[in-house]
Amino acid sequence: MTKKIFLNESEMPRQWYNIVADMPNKPLPPLHPGTKQPVGPEDLAPLFPMELIKQEVSADRYVDIPDQVRDIYRIWRPSPLFRATGLEKLLDAPVKIYYKYEGVSPSGSHKPNTAVPQAYYNMQEGVKKITTETGAGQWGTALSFACQQFGIECDVYMVKISYDQKPYRKIMMNTFGANVYASPSNRTQAGRNILAQDPNSTGSLGIAISEAIEMAAQDPHTKYALGSVLNHVLMHQTIIGQEAEKQLEIAGDFPDVVIAPLGGGSNFAGIAFPFLRHNLMHGKNVRAVAVEPASCPKLTKGKFMYDFGDTAGYTPLLPMYTLGHNFRPAAIHAGGLRYHGASVLCSQLLKDGLIEAQALQQLECFEAGVTFAKAEGIIPAPEATHAIAQVIREANMAKLEGKPRTILFNMCGHGFVDMQAYADYFDGKLNNHEFTEEELFGNLPEIDALQPTA
Ligand SMILES: *Cc1c(COP(=O)(O)O)cnc(C)c1O
Repeated sequence: MTKKIFLNESEMPRQWYNIVADMPNKPLPPLHPGTKQPVGPEDLAPLFPMELIKQEVSADRYVDIPDQVRDIYRIWRPSPLFRATGLEKLLDAPVKIYYKYEGVSPSGSHKPNTAVPQAYYNMQEGVKKITTETGAGQWGTALSFACQQFGIECDVYMVKISYDQKPYRKIMMNTFGANVYASPSNRTQAGRNILAQDPNSTGSLGIAISEAIEMAAQDPHTKYALGSVLNHVLMHQTIIGQEAEKQLEIAGDFPDVVIAPLGGGSNFAGIAFPFLRHNLMHGKNVRAVAVEPASCPKLTKGKFMYDFGDTAGYTPLLPMYTLGHNFRPAAIHAGGLRYHGASVLCSQLLKDGLIEAQALQQLECFEAGVTFAKAEGIIPAPEATHAIAQVIREANMAKLEGKPRTILFNMCGHGFVDMQAYADYFDGKLNNHEFTEEELFGNLPEIDALQPTA
């Protein structure tokens, strides 16, 4: 049995896959919060280069990957696909388990797959600086690396609690040449407003997004980049699933179920959308399961409605499953999954019953992560442990029901810079978090007022 399935560089996909072309119900348009009319390219132009705006609204099935982007992808792509032989042996269930390993990238996660093309299109349009936000630091690290490759300056607004708790991520960004600011900061109106209300605010992704957008909107040479949620970001990540398709073909296999953690939806989309294409176009029946933390359950407990992507309300209104843009998730260690909404594409697919969602508690996830590390030799990022816990559930179900299955999951990143999370787990300092109805209903009424009138 082959353990590791490599693709040659020449086999690296030449196009990204855009699922919009094949969706039975197309995503609803983003709306201008003032007029409640669909936003046009001119509304987005202060923040994004025109090529990315075109990709954001594109319905073309495939978009070419530029040669200069492919050249940089070669540093870590094609990424390996592993057969989880150690885990299979341990679980002793009628399952085959494969995982795509994105931890081999410069930042240790899938994020550079979109950071590199985003920096490239900005460079092509003469942009001098890119601002962004980062939660746990994965996205900031990826964008810092990508900007450095194309000679663009990079300013990162890092959620304060992570800035204080994860100094190594900040130093990685500095090493790649970026400036890193703890958010909320005094540099922006959005940050100053929050600090006036709560001088000890530990920040949130929504606040950091507001700060980064505010800085970009003020300067014609500065643009903004987002590491998840938007259609073009999800599309860039489809290189993961397209490579996995080819690697599974080499292994002579095809998945019954594809699993990934979901923060905004980009790594889930990346691995799952190319397989969903087989369902939409060729009558296959692959299950795609997105796994979210029980403390931030937008897919399983949230409402499908128009909401802002950030806290200050600078973004267009997006139709998505949301817990409300003022929702403050508990301080769990899977920082990349602590976002109040899910991408428009994943939300529409869930609404249409084309994907599944599962919410898991962090103790079960860390236990699964440690099991995986012992069996396979790779320490997963706290986000990735959510997929692993669901894989173990699937294996147990397969055993119970006597129904064999082939499972593919996304090992979206390694946890080498997250060892404090593991330390807290071993020291018994981590808790499960019960999401309450109050948390939900406290935030949604103000969003009711944002809905377009029917
Ligand atoms: C950012 C991140 C996530 C969550 O973001 P998605 O857009 O949902 O993929 C998950 N895992 C890791 C390792 C991340 O860095």
